Amino acid sequence: MVQEKLLTVNKLRTEFFQNKKTSVTAINEISFDIGKGEILGLVGESGCGKSVTSLSIMRLLNFTSGKVTKGEVIFDGKDLQKLSEKEMREIRGGKMSMIFQEPMSSLNPAMRIDKQMIEGIRLHTNLSKQEARERAAKILQQVGIPDPERVLKNYPHQLSGGMSQRVMIAMAMSCNPQLLIADEPTTALDVTIQAQILELMKKIQQEEGMSILLITHDLGVVAEMCTRVIVMYAGEIVEEAPVEVLFNNPTHPYTEGLIASVPKLGSGVKVLPSIPGSVPDLSMLPKGCRFAPRCKYATERCHNEEPDLFEVSEHQKCRCWLRDPHAGVPREGKEEK
Ligand code: SF4
Repeated sequence: MVQEKLLTVNKLRTEFFQNKKTSVTAINEISFDIGKGEILGLVGESGCGKSVTSLSIMRLLNFTSGKVTKGEVIFDGKDLQKLSEKEMREIRGGKMSMIFQEPMSSLNPAMRIDKQMIEGIRLHTNLSKQEARERAAKILQQVGIPDPERVLKNYPHQLSGGMSQRVMIAMAMSCNPQLLIADEPTTALDVTIQAQILELMKKIQQEEGMSILLITHDLGVVAEMCTRVIVMYAGEIVEEAPVEVLFNNPTHPYTEGLIASVPKLGSGVKVLPSIPGSVPDLSMLPKGCRFAPRCKYATERCHNEEPDLFEVSEHQKCRCWLRDPHAGVPREGKEEK
């Protein structure tokens, strides 16, 4: 399905260290690709490893105790793990940008919007101050800000939540990134503004042909925006499929539960089913399948052996023993239970 790849994440593992010897694995050897011009959704509940994945790709773990301990991230033909911090700074905000959930934590409260945008643009282009200002105004207009000149003169606290998020998107887009990583970009906003911002991101994505990694816990957003989806659970990928396939034929019980808990118009269902229990503490993972304590289909095997990510069809993968193509056939080195 993915034709020309822009980003390849290969067996990436990130651990958080409590001390030199003790660590917790937040993401465990995850692999996926993002194609050029593709919108890939990364979904799962809080604590599944979605944000750690984006921070690991962007190499923004240095302010945490986290460290990538295995794997590679190939972006535009370069292994990002091998770049110097200077080379990485050139990529961040230039070819690769990020939008966070909370715009106020990303905008500098002590700096006017024009200064922040102009500085960002000039860091990644050869534009003069005046040209950078013109580009900033143009992009603000593109993201639906009717009076960019006024907004440029504002400090972040003078903007509403929706306006700040638009400014964040404009800043992220200001250097025409090839990849935009959007981590819960609309969660903090009310529903109407949320719809406007998503519409806007899609429009700009189509116009500019960029790729987006959209991280969200909201399957409604995924259905609206994405071409392909990855579902994460407890630090691992448990399902991967094109968006229609995932919604019409979810193969992992966790995905099934997530989809069942999305409200559907006119269904007449008053109480939506929810997945019992919660995401396990990563330092105390259950034996076998990580989802087993919450899974209504769990068997003895599930509580003892961790399933692989099986290929269900050409474009769909699932980490569940129910999808084991060799079920009943002894696996190499392992005895069937
Ligand atoms: Fe459920 Fe077993 Fe599949 Fe895990 S492997 S999701 S416990 S059926």
